[in-house]
Amino acid sequence: MRFSDNGYYVEKYVKCDCCGVLVYDAGLRVEDAVRGELVYCSAWCREWQTQKFAGVDFPSVNARLHGA
Ligand SMILES: [Zn+2]
Repeated sequence: MRFSDNGYYVEKYVKCDCCGVLVYDAGLRVEDAVRGELVYCSAWCREWQTQKFAGVDFPSVNARLHGA
């Protein structure tokens, strides 16, 4: 999520491309050759989505990555 220069309004809502939660800071950005730039709220979401894109039906990600 990005605020306007004066900080009075939200200029752009950025949501995690995995879980859809609003990303307030820069987030984790990944440049995907097919899908363009992706933004994730945590390393957990990035890893989960990476496995999903690779064809894993039920991705297994270490829970400690959540919120990282
Ligand atoms: Zn997420």
